[in-house]
Amino acid sequence: MHSSPFCYLIIVSMEKIAIEELTRIVLNCRKCPLGESRLHPVLGKGSLQAKIMIVGEGPGATEDQTGVAFTGPAGKLLDKILASVNISKDDLYFTNIVKCFPPENRTPRLSEQEACLDYLRMQFLLIHPKMMILLGSVAAKKIIDPKFSVMSDHGKIFEKKGVIMIPTFHPAALLRDETKKPAAWEDWKIIRKTIDEKKIL
Ligand code: SF4
Repeated sequence: MHSSPFCYLIIVSMEKIAIEELTRIVLNCRKCPLGESRLHPVLGKGSLQAKIMIVGEGPGATEDQTGVAFTGPAGKLLDKILASVNISKDDLYFTNIVKCFPPENRTPRLSEQEACLDYLRMQFLLIHPKMMILLGSVAAKKIIDPKFSVMSDHGKIFEKKGVIMIPTFHPAALLRDETKKPAAWEDWKIIRKTIDEKKIL
């Protein structure tokens, strides 16, 4: 996509500046009530040249403390899953539908998701991934279809505007209910196969 090493460097620098600016904006954001109760907003983490974007629901209590995405128990399980299907974190960008921790880990309200969605749109435009892995029903409903059901639609391959999207269980759901792990493992095998077949990486 980038025509010369010089252009590539300019684009990478611009992406970095844009993400830094977005981080600053989110730091001061009070567009929804979550901005009043959070400790630290969590924009995202990972490579700005990533071909794959992983989108979860929202920061957990650990992420609220650290300000870094996917550092809590669910993030640690996700690390193990990624390693088991041989996906390097260097090829990924991680973020969530909402950037601030919902108190008591509740599901973010639709109004909060809507308020935060522009930040995800901006991240999408900056990273321009070829594939999105959607963790849990909140992300899949918001990005694929409001009628999405994680129980019946996990592991299916969707495509929107040239971007491949595969929803699966959120690792936090796997920690709450281990019986979902075999189905999640099948999803991750589909994800790996799709990456290879479509030459995503
Ligand atoms: S959740 Fe999103 S919209 Fe709400 S305050 Fe945080 S950054 Fe702003």
